Amino acid sequence: MELPFLSWAEIDLDATAANVRALKNHVGPGVLLGAVVKANAYGHGAVEVSEVALESGADWIIVNRSIEGVELRRAGITAPVFVLGHTMPVEADRMVGYDLRPTVMNLAQIESLSQAAEKHGKTVHVHIKIDTGLGRLGVFPAEAVEFARAVSRLPRLVIEGVYSHPSVADEPSADDVAYTWMQFERLMHVRDELKKAGFEIPIWHFCNSAATIRFPEMHLSLVRCGTSLHGFDPFIGQELAGAIALRPALTLKSHLVRVATHPTGSAVSYGRTYVTVAPTRIAVVPVGYGDGYRRALSNKGYVLVRGKRAPIIGRVCMDQFMVDVTHIPEAALYDEAVLIGSQGDQRIISEDIANLVGTHVNEVTSILAPRIPRLYLKGGRILKSKGLAEEDSFI
Ligand SMILES: *Cc1c(COP(=O)(O)O)cnc(C)c1O
Repeated sequence: MELPFLSWAEIDLDATAANVRALKNHVGPGVLLGAVVKANAYGHGAVEVSEVALESGADWIIVNRSIEGVELRRAGITAPVFVLGHTMPVEADRMVGYDLRPTVMNLAQIESLSQAAEKHGKTVHVHIKIDTGLGRLGVFPAEAVEFARAVSRLPRLVIEGVYSHPSVADEPSADDVAYTWMQFERLMHVRDELKKAGFEIPIWHFCNSAATIRFPEMHLSLVRCGTSLHGFDPFIGQELAGAIALRPALTLKSHLVRVATHPTGSAVSYGRTYVTVAPTRIAVVPVGYGDGYRRALSNKGYVLVRGKRAPIIGRVCMDQFMVDVTHIPEAALYDEAVLIGSQGDQRIISEDIANLVGTHVNEVTSILAPRIPRLYLKGGRILKSKGLAEEDSFI
């Protein structure tokens, strides 16, 4: 079928399902698998990824913001939804109304949640976040017991979980490994202190994808996997690469919308940063930084055309960029261009793009803009499409 898209992303939900099974198999039956679908599932589509993750064995869905949880509830997801980020007191009503599990770390939050719970006549399952060394959200370990007491004094709040987050679980150095252990030990110390103070808290968690793969001793009751769920290997290029077989779910495709030979001395794109030194066949790819394709790829990135690499020349614009196809004489108008994914025996993975621009792979897909329609594949067939306009949902 010819797809009615200029540029689009394909999400292979079979890959997502396989990743969930691989992770679940790795952690074993006693550990809950939390599928992290914040930021629209790192650009893959929060609702679709959540549905397939739950079908394939994930136990919890994890988001960053309450509004992300609301999107999932409205789509009919009934599994536990845990919110990692900071919730403002004004969001308490929404958290309780939609049965989301909040992260808590200050008094204003727990007071507002308790009031909202009274109003709804519900119990709220909160998770206390401990800052063991990431220096981001949470209370310090030394404040944990006092804060837990404050939570337990408020009606309708139940401390269901206590957790922390590692900062260097994917880093190879011995020093970083020691740091991760230090963070984990701090959390275990909090566990001892809370136990001594009489608290019985059922769910403890620490691991992101990297820690889940690397440190089975740290799995505790629940692991929170995002990057691995989408098929990115946190250890790519390191010894641990491939420890768990993961399949990238996302492919990014476009078309060549102009193919022309430009004479010697022709300037290409804004700023004239590229000038041809010989007659050059140049193709235009209609994807730009307005789609979340980084401008930093100017004169650096490449795409696949007819199974060969075509380098980006000149600057990436908001809506398109140019590639040199002189060495691909068969390249023709409306040929498919692969920006992320495979074509022939060539492959570009999101990590390649991350390396070119010096960022983390999660950024590459999570910034893909809503105007890139998402096409969902399952069981080798097109399940549905989702785009900015009604017409993009053609199935
Ligand atoms: C994003 C996030 C995760 C998931 O991390 P990955 O490395 O993508 O698996 C887990 N926990 C917290 C607190 C996060 O912010």
